[in-house]
Parts: sequence; structure tokens; C-alpha cells
Amino acid sequence: MSTLLSDQPLGAHPRPGRAETRERLSKAAYDLLVIGGGILGTSVDWHSAQSGLRVAMVDAGDFAGATSSASSKLGAGVFAYSMLSAFGDGVGRLISPARAAADNPGLHTDGLKAVAVYGDHQMNDARVAVMTVRAAVRSGAVVINHAEVTGLRFTHGRVTGVDVQDRLDSTEFGIDARLAINATGPVGGPPAPHGGQGCGPSIRLSKGTHVVLKRKASWKAARATPTDKYRLTFALPWEDQLLLGTTDEAYEGDPAEVRATGADIQQILDEAALSVRDEHLSRDLITLAFAGLRALPGGPGGVESAKRETVVTEGRGGMLSVAGGKWTTYRHIGRTVLRKVAQLHHSLSGDMKPVSHPPRWVSLPGLADPNEVAHRLLVHREAGARRDPLTTRHLATHYGSLSFDIAHLVSEDPALGERIDPDGPEIWAQVVYARDHEWAETVDDVLPRRTTLTVRGLGTDEVRAGVQDLLVQKD
Ligand SMILES: Cc1cc2nc3c(=O)[nH]c(=O)nc-3n(C[C@H](O)[C@H](O)[C@H](O)COP(=O)(O)OP(=O)(O)OC[C@H]3O[C@@H](n4cnc5c(N)ncnc54)[C@H](O)[C@@H]3O)c2cc1C
Repeated sequence: MSTLLSDQPLGAHPRPGRAETRERLSKAAYDLLVIGGGILGTSVDWHSAQSGLRVAMVDAGDFAGATSSASSKLGAGVFAYSMLSAFGDGVGRLISPARAAADNPGLHTDGLKAVAVYGDHQMNDARVAVMTVRAAVRSGAVVINHAEVTGLRFTHGRVTGVDVQDRLDSTEFGIDARLAINATGPVGGPPAPHGGQGCGPSIRLSKGTHVVLKRKASWKAARATPTDKYRLTFALPWEDQLLLGTTDEAYEGDPAEVRATGADIQQILDEAALSVRDEHLSRDLITLAFAGLRALPGGPGGVESAKRETVVTEGRGGMLSVAGGKWTTYRHIGRTVLRKVAQLHHSLSGDMKPVSHPPRWVSLPGLADPNEVAHRLLVHREAGARRDPLTTRHLATHYGSLSFDIAHLVSEDPALGERIDPDGPEIWAQVVYARDHEWAETVDDVLPRRTTLTVRGLGTDEVRAGVQDLLVQKD
């Protein structure tokens, strides 16, 4: 009987190197070039590739390295507000504070009259994003991270290409495309030519900070407590830790400089104390604080009351911009932009024409029942091979069926099956996999985004050095 480990792994072909990718990007003429590889750019890239267009995507940093890995990780968080006000119509139910405290010992129930229970979904945003990049590439897109668009190229007043600089080795190259999509999020767009007017949309920014703490008790539910008319404070069990957030403040500084400040962290801890017991909020428990920027449509009123709408506009040089919205609706946003591209098609020369109805529900790579995957990993292992149950669970929930590729790496080199740190489930094979199949170029691509090492507070100098050693062993 053949076991899973002797089968050809699913992602057997490592991604091409950067020099080869740069060459492919600079030699071809693309239908569409997406500037920015956050979740919106990636969705546009993926949907465009699925609809038959020749597409490329570049990101100045890492894919999902900005806003798209700084979210509250809630799938339907947008519905929380309406659900809370919709009790009685079947979407939620009320329970007593005593019952809520029995299930969630960290909950502070003094003064609570009732607790409302509703359902939501949670994700690891950075990992879902990298799987979406992979889906786009599987559909034919060409992508590169750590490559910044430094200028726009115009033909007869229209943007028909970009100048790019590789941020890792400073190589400069160009990409030609019939249409460019600006998906640079809070940055607002690539640099304007000759210091002139930019091509980006009119947006304003709101900063949101989160704090991650080591969890002292089990949390069976996430907790959302209103702080005022518009805002909720969250305490979410996430990646075996407690995720608290978030602030919502107008931001006018340089988007590249956004950071969680001491004042942000204090505000989050104070607001969390409304419903979380003090012993769970000690500063010693903090493993990470991070901040992101919401891109909001311009308009009257404060940022906290602004609608979280997607802004899709056509700017100078015919460049389309997409910004804002929610992570949750990223597929819908990708299709919306594609429809806009199809409308613009009349003004574009040549044979570029996206198919009008690209498939609606193409699954992401690795989609599989994690329980089944964990079971198969435990059962179908080579004779004598050990399998750590925590690591097995971690692989199954974070990689789905792609876990078998990681198991294959371990069967070829058992040292890669060792834990990176005894306090976390991650193994060294995940670093090799991130390097060869998930576009990880730097230690900071691996620790906070391809793995949960940073979130768990395990990004020690020793771990960083070990990851760096594996990254440089490519090729
Ligand atoms: C605090 C906070 C909490 C949130 N919580 C939720 C939630 O719980 N649920 C939900 O559905 N949504 C949530 N959101 C919203 C969601 O995260 C965003 O709508 C989404 O991530 C926006 O993605 P984006 O691709 O537009 O931006 P980004 O992820 O910022 O991507 C833009 C990319 O453009 C790149 N770039 C910039 N300039 C250049 C250049 N010159 N050349 C090449 N690349 C460039 C950047 O490197 C970056 O990677 C939250 C947002 C915030 C800020």
C-alpha cells in the first residue's frame, strides 16, 4: 500500500528565483498590472488571472505585510454591530452572566445584566493572504514581493507601465501593461510623476492597534463589548493567545511609519478591563502589539463613524484604484474591480477582454477538513517516525492538505521535524516551505506572517538566526 508520504507532494515545484521572475516580468506585455499585494490587490490579481487575463502583481514589501496582516482577524466582524442589535430574530441568543462566566473564567461580569451570544468566523489573515497569492499564481499570475513601483510610464497620457526597484538587491526593471491597478491601500498610490498630482483615490486614514497577550485561561468565546455608540472592544482567543483591540483614531502621518504607541496599548488594556479580569491583562503577558491603517472614503464626521466602504475610482492616466472595504468581502471586491475593467475594455486597444463570468467559488490551495488531515498525518507516517500531536494539529489547521508537503520535507530530512522553539508547535520544515513555496525572503516574512512565532512571543535572536540560515540556503 502506498502511503501519503511516498506520494508526490502537492507543491513539488519550488517557485522560480527572483532573477527569473524579474526577467519574466520585464519581457512580457501584461494586460493588467496590480500595484500592491495586500488582500485587495491579490484578489484582483487572482480573479483577473482566472478570467483569462495576463496579469502581474508587485508589492513593495511582503504580500499582506501592511494592513492585510493587521486586521482583527474576524471573518464577519462587520456584522457584529447589526447582529448585536438584531437579537430576537434568530441570529443570536441571550444567556445569563453566570453562565457566560462559567464558560469563560476570564470574563469580568460585575454590573452585567445579560450576555448576548452570536456567531462569527476567525482566520489567520497573513496565511489566508499567502494562500490567495498562491491561488493567483496557480491561475497564471506572475508575482514578486519586495519590489517597489518607483514611477509610472505613460503612453499618450495613459499609464502603460511602471518602473520597479527590487528592494532586496536594488536591481531596477520595468513592467509593461495595458492597464494598471493601484491597490496600495493606505499609501494612496505609487509616486506621482515629476512630483505632480497623484493617480490615487481620495481617502482618509484611521489607525487601529491590537495587543496580543499570553492566555492564562481557556476562552471558549470571543468577547465584544461596546465602548460607545460606534466602537466595540474585542478580546478574542487567537493562535492560542488572547487578541485585544482595537483603537480607531484619525491618522495623518506617513503610512510607512504607523506603529502601536504606549498610549494605544494603555487604551486597549483599559477598554479590555471593562469585561476582562485584571489578571489576564498584565503587561508581562504581552507578546506583540501591532497597528494598521483603515483606508476610508472621504466625508464628514469622525473616522469611527465612517462607513467601511470600498472605494474604486479611475484616476489620472486611466489608472484604476481600489482601497478600503473589508477583508471579509475580498472575493466580492476582486470581482467588482474586474467588472470595472471589463467596462473600460472599450477604451483599451487590442484583444484584452476578461471573461464576463469567472468562476465564483474557486477554493484556496490546501482546502481540506483539518480533522481529517490531522488524522491522516498521524496514521500515514513512516515506520518509526514520531509525530508531535500539537504540531500535527497546527499543520492541519494552518496548511490543510498542504501539510502533506511539509510532512514530505520531514521524511526527507528528519531534522526539519524538530520544533523551532519548545514553547510553540512550529517546526523547521515550515521555514523551508515558506522559502520555497510561499515567497518568504526575509526573517520578518517568516516569523510574523508565514508562522505564528512572533504572535507567540518566540522571535528570539536564536530563532531569527536559525531562520536566516535556512533562508540563505535556497538554490
Ligand atoms: C485595525 C484594523 C482592523 C481590521 N479588522 C478587520 C476585520 O476584522 N475583518 C475584516 O474583514 N476587515 C478588517 N479590516 C480591514 C482589512 O484589513 C482591510 O480592508 C484590507 O486589509 C485592506 O487591504 P489592502 O490590500 O487594500 O491594503 P494593504 O494590505 O495595506 O496592501 C497594500 C499593499 O501595497 C503595497 N504598496 C504600497 N506602495 C507600493 C508601491 N509603490 N509599489 C508596490 N507596492 C506598494 C504595500 O506594501 C502593501 O502590501 C481591518 C483593518 C484594520 C486597519
